[in-house]
Amino acid sequence: MYGAIEAGGTKFVCAVGDEFGQITERMVIPTTVPEETMTEVISFFKQYELEAIGVGSFGPIDVNLQSPTYGNITSTPKLAWRDFPFVKVLKEAFQKPIGFNTDVNAAALGEARQGAAQGLDSCLYITVGTGIGAGAVVGGKLLQGWSHPEMGHILVRRHPNDPYKGKCPYHGDCLEGLAAGPAIEDRWGEKGVHLADRKDVWDLEAYYIAQALMQYIFILSPKRIILGGGVMKQKQVFPSIYTHLKELMNNYVSLPELSEYIVSPGLGNDSGITGSLYLAHQAFENDVKFLSENKI
Ligand code: ADP
Ligand code: ZN
Repeated sequence: MYGAIEAGGTKFVCAVGDEFGQITERMVIPTTVPEETMTEVISFFKQYELEAIGVGSFGPIDVNLQSPTYGNITSTPKLAWRDFPFVKVLKEAFQKPIGFNTDVNAAALGEARQGAAQGLDSCLYITVGTGIGAGAVVGGKLLQGWSHPEMGHILVRRHPNDPYKGKCPYHGDCLEGLAAGPAIEDRWGEKGVHLADRKDVWDLEAYYIAQALMQYIFILSPKRIILGGGVMKQKQVFPSIYTHLKELMNNYVSLPELSEYIVSPGLGNDSGITGSLYLAHQAFENDVKFLSENKI
């Protein structure tokens, strides 16, 4: 049995399940301060005999195994969680292998194994919610370099009729600054959920998302793109994204039928927690391999 945590800015979803991503129990814990939230997380998992725990966390996080601060949350605006040593705390509590990756990488893994990209060895999972982030599976593996990708903070061409300054605390009018949920609310004066019938809102949203997708497609050429997160629950934005993307791509490369290529998550709200179970299983397998290679 494996444990999984989808650590978000407002809530932690904890679950136990098997290596095939099947969840048997789950619990939702509010994200307050580490001392409080982690005490509840640990007592939830203590009820079970676990082989490993996988974490898909909000970030940025340190995923560089060579780094002295590996396993920490790093520069999050949630001050109580800044520099929180996530992996260390779980290791101390359970003495089991801990898989640790970004929430969006976990979601990409979940979707690739069981969701809308099942059976494909590459996909891109993008969340448009409080922030914008993306995780990629490339050649069957999560894409990671020196650190994890931060695809939500790319620069996009501003719409000539959009005077909004942008909301990213680091870059102002990067993609997240122009198109995440808080930017929509700030620009239009209302939450996205109340703007459902405003064609101009979703056309502008699609204009920015399509630009980002073109860049991701040109750089990664994923076999499927999954658009998740609260904002993408506005399904009317999808056709508009297809239209803008077609116009931008201008037939330069051939793409699959867009309505099958750019889709909603197959696992609904469970992409991240399911992927975190797979992260736990991967951590377990890596540990077994390490122990046998080192004859421990
Ligand atoms: P988080 O990114 O914090 O994990 P969400 O993916 O739900 O959580 O994103 C929250 C953001 O998405 C908020 O800015 C909210 O206004 C917006 N949002 C959530 N649900 C919807 C919806 N159905 N339609 C439009 N915007 C939404
Ligand atoms: Zn930014």
